[in-house]
Amino acid sequence: MAGITMSTSIYDEAFEWYSKNWDPDRPVGEWWALLAETGWSFPSWPEGRGGRGLSPRDAKQAEQARLDAGAYGPPKGLSTFLVAPTLLTYATSEQLDRFMPGIVRGTDTWCQLFSEPGAGSDLAGLSTRAVRDGDEWIITGQKVWNSGAQNAAFGILMARTDPDLPKHKGISFFLIDMTQDAVDVRPLREMTGDIAFNEVFLSEARVANDDLLGGQGEGWRVGMTTLSHERDPDNSGSGSGFDFAGADLTRTAGEHAAAVDGDVDGFGLAMSGGANRLLDDILDEFDGSADPIRRQRMMQLAELRRTSRWSTARSMAAVKAGGQPGPEVSTLKVIGAEVSRRTRDLGLEAMGPEGMLWGDDTPTGGQFHAYCMFTPAMSIAGGSDEVNRNIIGERVLGLPREPGESEQRQRPWSELPRN
Ligand SMILES: Cc1cc2nc3c(=O)[nH]c(=O)nc-3n(C[C@H](O)[C@H](O)[C@H](O)COP(=O)(O)OP(=O)(O)OC[C@H]3O[C@@H](n4cnc5c(N)ncnc54)[C@H](O)[C@@H]3O)c2cc1C
Repeated sequence: MAGITMSTSIYDEAFEWYSKNWDPDRPVGEWWALLAETGWSFPSWPEGRGGRGLSPRDAKQAEQARLDAGAYGPPKGLSTFLVAPTLLTYATSEQLDRFMPGIVRGTDTWCQLFSEPGAGSDLAGLSTRAVRDGDEWIITGQKVWNSGAQNAAFGILMARTDPDLPKHKGISFFLIDMTQDAVDVRPLREMTGDIAFNEVFLSEARVANDDLLGGQGEGWRVGMTTLSHERDPDNSGSGSGFDFAGADLTRTAGEHAAAVDGDVDGFGLAMSGGANRLLDDILDEFDGSADPIRRQRMMQLAELRRTSRWSTARSMAAVKAGGQPGPEVSTLKVIGAEVSRRTRDLGLEAMGPEGMLWGDDTPTGGQFHAYCMFTPAMSIAGGSDEVNRNIIGERVLGLPREPGESEQRQRPWSELPRN
């Protein structure tokens, strides 16, 4: 509870509820369903959609109460981190009725199908095509770096519906069934040794027109909402327990919690903030503060984290005022990547020669090393540092656009040179 001023009513109500209902022997699927029904899954989300419509501040207190009661949290992954906030902003009530229960109960896993071999930073240049066929759309193209696609039942997909409009305008946003034969998911192995992401080939895959999100031609606006949540470290759908591999819902909640904690990879540590705790353990074990220069760098890291928390509080105020995270959230994304690099460097250096090893018998059971291997991804996933700096320059500070960009935004996509 240190450092948080509690509003007694929400904290007490949540603590009492968790104390009464948490049972590690209950199947995890049942536990998640109970959290969803009672609105304790994601308390800041709307009532009836897994939440209680609480302010972000009150939701944080409910979360603290859960932790203090020792109860396991709701299912977390791309579904809750990226998909749910996008659905809650743009989906019709029919779409919410269809898709939200599977997300908050942890029965449906989702993936994000945005990036392509020729369209990462220049996402608006994407070339996956969607062609209308009666009540359906036929989708053809290739996506890449799609985290968790190998386990996903559904995907959020950006595809071009009108190539003759300027690149940002001819894109639509679809909710696609990943289990159809026309969707071919091929896993990619990363330098961490894990298979976190995939390439996805769509060969005349079909999506019902009812599964268009936000309306035809609105894909860029909808996709930017997804990315603003991806860049927001205060996203309530992210955090500890990050587990996009799906779960055996019949396993007891206690067993599930132990398995997730014991099997956390670099991605999971990055998403949960667990690396901070590991760094503290390493600095204690290896007497990290004995060196005055390292002490100085520990202070710089602490200060950077403090700045990040302060900026996060400002971004939360914007959300509370009724908006989505704005372009300012790119600042948090860039700071987050810098914090992860400094955390990595300090930990490895403090370990000395053991920092050069790899495997389960290294300090922290190999978890910190797995995190270190993943840190370069923090400057790439969700938009690279350079792209986020461009956003800060153009959309926060009001600096001029990149040379040629304004002209590119006017011309039809079909006339633009292809990457
Ligand atoms: C761990 C991880 C998970 C991911 N998960 C997903 C996912 O689930 N779904 C998904 O769709 N994508 C995912 N991605 C992809 C990610 O969004 C892209 O990698 C990212 O947007 C960068 O695109 P790119 O890799 O094509 O690099 P490029 O766009 O080719 O960029 C290469 C380099 O050029 C620089 N650059 C490009 N344009 C500019 C510019 N205008 N100004 C300055 N510098 C520039 C970039 O900063 C970068 O350093 C994931 C990536 C990672 C690392």
